[in-house]
Amino acid sequence: TELKLIPKLPVTTRPAQLAESSSSIDKACMSRSQQQMYRDSAHQFPRSVLLDHALEKYTEMHSQCALLLDDGNDTSVQVKKGCQYVVYLEGYEGLGNRLLSLVSAFAYAMVTHRALVIDARRGHLAQLLCEPFHNSSWLLPPQFVDAVWGASTLEDAMRWNFQNVTSVRINLRHKQTEADQTFFCPATQKGVRNITWIWWESNQYYVPRLFMIPDFWSLLSSWFPDPSLVFTQLTRFLCLPQNHIWAQIKRIRAAYLASSMIQVGLQVRRHANADNATLVPLVHELIMNCSLKHHVLPKLVLPVMPQRKEQQLALGNQPVAEMSVGSSSSSSWTTTQSVAVLVTSLHIQYYEKLRNLYVEHGTEDGTVVSVHMVSHEGVENESYEQAVKALTEIWLLSFSNKLETTSWSTFGYVAQGLGGLQPIILNFFTIDAQHETRPACFLGQSSDPCLHYPFVKPSKCAGVKMSRQHSKWITTHIRPCQDEVNGLQLC
Ligand code: GDP
Repeated sequence: TELKLIPKLPVTTRPAQLAESSSSIDKACMSRSQQQMYRDSAHQFPRSVLLDHALEKYTEMHSQCALLLDDGNDTSVQVKKGCQYVVYLEGYEGLGNRLLSLVSAFAYAMVTHRALVIDARRGHLAQLLCEPFHNSSWLLPPQFVDAVWGASTLEDAMRWNFQNVTSVRINLRHKQTEADQTFFCPATQKGVRNITWIWWESNQYYVPRLFMIPDFWSLLSSWFPDPSLVFTQLTRFLCLPQNHIWAQIKRIRAAYLASSMIQVGLQVRRHANADNATLVPLVHELIMNCSLKHHVLPKLVLPVMPQRKEQQLALGNQPVAEMSVGSSSSSSWTTTQSVAVLVTSLHIQYYEKLRNLYVEHGTEDGTVVSVHMVSHEGVENESYEQAVKALTEIWLLSFSNKLETTSWSTFGYVAQGLGGLQPIILNFFTIDAQHETRPACFLGQSSDPCLHYPFVKPSKCAGVKMSRQHSKWITTHIRPCQDEVNGLQLC
């Protein structure tokens, strides 16, 4: 399958003036209303009426359950009757992982009518993202955060049969206790139903598992008639860059990308253990092979990068030189175009090689290709400054007309999900792993992120009763991920 060339379309379905003349709430967070001006009509994905209604109701509930510090008491808060909470505990990992986990906590909070608050002591989300709920803050009062140490583990809560437990801390990271692995079982959900505080610690995208719980499925499937858009619609509501970051995103786009007819995003993620300089040429070759094969980049006039035959065969791909000349395959690149390629990576080499290639060689059809990079941080340090760059680049990638991402990268998942884009997935395991059998690149089956560690064992959720309709829905809409055979993805 190939990506269709998307002609440049009017960038908004709403008149620009309307989006610009936003309310004061929107002025505090310009990305909320302006984001749609940067997406073509095929990628707007308006929310269903039921989802809009649910978000409105949720925002109302959030403001009714706003936390107030107890007078004269620094460590406790007043909890209004009927209010319950999910506290998102920000982890130390990369921004992609944190955003996947945040969106999952929000989906859980929505479906269980709990107010989402974030404990932002450790990370930077509070400085990166707008407050999402009108009239009430999502920040947990800092004085209260130590209360987490009083929370029970899920294991203890289960042992006590959930009696007298008001606060439970669940660990939904990639390694979990046996007890935490039952969190998405209906029986556990019944147990935690009356617990006021759920402390959510995770680095994964757990939304697919929510759809497997019968009670939650009824609600979620009514809000999301197209389940492949869950992350897209929730993240466009919840993960909006604050004004100072949004201004930078717009500046970069206007200066380097917007004047080209087609924008291509290319995310090259090399994890530390695969970050070996000698592999750079192979990675570059794989990127070129895939980009040409899937018509993401236009063909070059001259044969390039003469390669040793064994290397090409090892990659299981046609050599670039053969692909770029005299190919009779139907290419979308037939008229003079201009293409801006945004390369995001911790490493500058991939940008440099691509830029040099298109500077040194013309394209078959005369397409003008400009190649850009915003940052090349070298190593992950998870500083605030790096997180700002990461968020900026994720948003810029999400505005692409065509996107190539790296398999198993949560950074790429957020970009594809935010954009509602089915990416071409680059599979560098063909270079890094000895026994990799999957192809070097393939078209993503969905724009929704992959849940890498679903921990689904039928024995763990004893006695689940699922209707035939629900089972059928699951078979149709939840599939193994293409880049993780044990993973789950909404399609
Ligand atoms: P994953 O490790 O690929 O799943 O993605 P994460 O976002 O969870 O973690 C990677 C971290 O490395 C990010 O938070 C960034 O700080 C940094 N990083 C990785 N790739 C890029 C990139 O292309 N651009 C920028 N600016 N930072 C990156």
